[in-house]
Amino acid sequence: MFKCDYHTHTRFSFDGARDSTPDSLCEAAIAQGVTDLAITDHFECNWRAEAAYPPYDSDGAYKEIMAAKEKYKGKLNLTYGIEIGQANQYPEEAKKLLAAHDYEFVIGSIHNLRGALDFHYWDFKKVFDDMSPAYIGYCFERYIDELCEVIDTLDKIDTVAHLTYLHRYCALSDNDYDFMKHSDKMEKLFKKIICRDIALEINVSTLWKGFGFPMPHKDILALYRECGGRLITIGTDSHSPEHIGECVEEGFNIIRSIGLHDILVVRNGEKHIEKI
Ligand SMILES: [Zn+2]
Ligand SMILES: [Zn+2]
Repeated sequence: MFKCDYHTHTRFSFDGARDSTPDSLCEAAIAQGVTDLAITDHFECNWRAEAAYPPYDSDGAYKEIMAAKEKYKGKLNLTYGIEIGQANQYPEEAKKLLAAHDYEFVIGSIHNLRGALDFHYWDFKKVFDDMSPAYIGYCFERYIDELCEVIDTLDKIDTVAHLTYLHRYCALSDNDYDFMKHSDKMEKLFKKIICRDIALEINVSTLWKGFGFPMPHKDILALYRECGGRLITIGTDSHSPEHIGECVEEGFNIIRSIGLHDILVVRNGEKHIEKI
């Protein structure tokens, strides 16, 4: 039975666990009944100019992923992917990377707003206490604007990752925020991706981490569908082998409950839609 995990990280990502190798991820995927796995290590476009992140060993990752493809042929559909962060901020970095490597699957992300820290490092409790939820709204609007720029920057992009990335951190600080207040802004982004056949990712890391919601939330998924969106990708955003495939079925159920059924995968470089 079809089961995919289309957002995963190995030790080639700066934040990947040491035991997270293309080989160990494939073993974990097979053990979890995953039929389609995409390895999508981080490439953060501001790594060099801002020294914001360590470098990404693209050649090393390529070698190990190709070896794993060969080793697990017939057992697992392994796809050679990448998660490109902040392509809009340093377009030349993204272009150079994409020109040098034939990635089969490209995720577009924003982890930090222009000139700001990765949301991962924000103290959201302080933001809520010292400023106001309005500040979160302001940041989210900027975040969506930058995602629109990412779409305009990249010729090759297959999906947009963790649309409500901030939500994970708001929730961590025991605060909640209704991102649907910004539905107009999100509609603009959805229209942009739909007309280019770019999918929307359902990131289930917040499900397996116990937050109780995927990124984005169910109501945002419904908005995507209302705008005419159909294509979905789904990923655990695992940074170690033990979470590969976790909560994907739960994610599938959420997707179905919205009336969406088309999951995008890439096999041998060709896009393929699996119906769930
Ligand atoms: Zn990400
Ligand atoms: Zn990721």
